[in-house]
Amino acid sequence: MAYSLEENHFFGNSNPAELVETYGSPLYVYNEEIFRTRCREMADLVDRPNFKVNYSTKANSNLELLKIVHDEGLCADAMSPGEIHVLMEAGFEPGEIFYIGNNVSAEEMGFAIERDITVSVDSLSQLEMVGKTHPGARVAVRLNPGVGAGHHEKVITAGKKTKFGINLDKVDEALKIAIRYGLTIVGVNQHIGSLFMTGEAYAEAVSVVLDAARRFPHLQFVDLGGGFGIPYRKQEDQERLNLSDLGRRIRHMIGKWDDTYGREITFKIEPGRYIAAECGALLGTVYSMKDNAGTRYAGTDLGFNVLIRPELYGSHHDVEVYREGRQVTEGPAEVVNVVGNICETGDAVAKDRKLPVIQERDIVAVLDAGAYGYVMSSNYNNRLRPAEVLIDQKGNHRLIRKRETLDDLMKGFAK
Ligand SMILES: *Cc1c(COP(=O)(O)O)cnc(C)c1O
Repeated sequence: MAYSLEENHFFGNSNPAELVETYGSPLYVYNEEIFRTRCREMADLVDRPNFKVNYSTKANSNLELLKIVHDEGLCADAMSPGEIHVLMEAGFEPGEIFYIGNNVSAEEMGFAIERDITVSVDSLSQLEMVGKTHPGARVAVRLNPGVGAGHHEKVITAGKKTKFGINLDKVDEALKIAIRYGLTIVGVNQHIGSLFMTGEAYAEAVSVVLDAARRFPHLQFVDLGGGFGIPYRKQEDQERLNLSDLGRRIRHMIGKWDDTYGREITFKIEPGRYIAAECGALLGTVYSMKDNAGTRYAGTDLGFNVLIRPELYGSHHDVEVYREGRQVTEGPAEVVNVVGNICETGDAVAKDRKLPVIQERDIVAVLDAGAYGYVMSSNYNNRLRPAEVLIDQKGNHRLIRKRETLDDLMKGFAK
């Protein structure tokens, strides 16, 4: 049989029925062992003393998961003051945080700089802004290597059609602005896009950025970005990203750099999804089954307020069916759309899936929902964000974020 959460003891000493009974439905469940394994795979990607992994907080910013990231010795990227705030609450020191700003105010940039957090600047105009408000600061610049990659045009973040980065023909101007305001450009970073499954475009972008980076004389680090993909189609035995091949490519390019730059610098990567996606499953309950004009629908509480990736990017997530705590793997199957409870027709978490015939009260498990799941959830339709539960390394479950309450919906309104 293909990959299955149950077969892999994802739920530890528990099962989906017990978890939903205890914590309610829908429910995000994370497996600590898988999460730690992914942290270590990234930390071991390149065998070199000055190689650092910055976990991209935006993929999953649950406080307890961030504490585990810190415990694993990783650093972290932040995209907003809010992410800086939770990272510091999780125990990260300013020197372990890298702030990657994109079109941010001077106050926001100051929020990071005044906490001694290194910032990445995304345009010449933002470099000027930092120069005026924080002359003498140490900054990194985000370059656009002109090559992008990704699973959907919305997440390709380099190349010609993106708002991100400083184009390579602007490097001289960036250097001039830095001199004018006494800024030291200590780092260069890039991020070409999300979810690549082969290392080629990444390796190409890395080599372009390394060439450009040589023009900056004071570098302490080069940040190669994230985007490492995970196999979302495990039920079809999709292959994993070949980490040893990717690690070899990166090591090779870094080796060439070391031979010529004349000074030791740190190399960083910024994986988000790779670390968080597979440790998470989203559980939902089936409340109605129906046929509409020849299409079979399983109606659940998994609206796009809970998981928006399928709606936003047309993303695929594998789905499993559970009854009385056990996965249903035998018996008749049928093609079905698994839909949510939000008042929009696009509200489908999985379309045209051949699944065991679903019954009301069954639980569906949506796989690989740990990244860009909860963090993108909303209160649309005034629905409550679900609880989050961790299966620890002993297989025991524990609540790591409460389900919202109706009172939470009233926060911010005058009484
Ligand atoms: C989102 C993001 C990442 C992480 O992307 P993944 O595809 O989740 O690995 C890394 N760096 C930057 C700058 C990002 O915006």
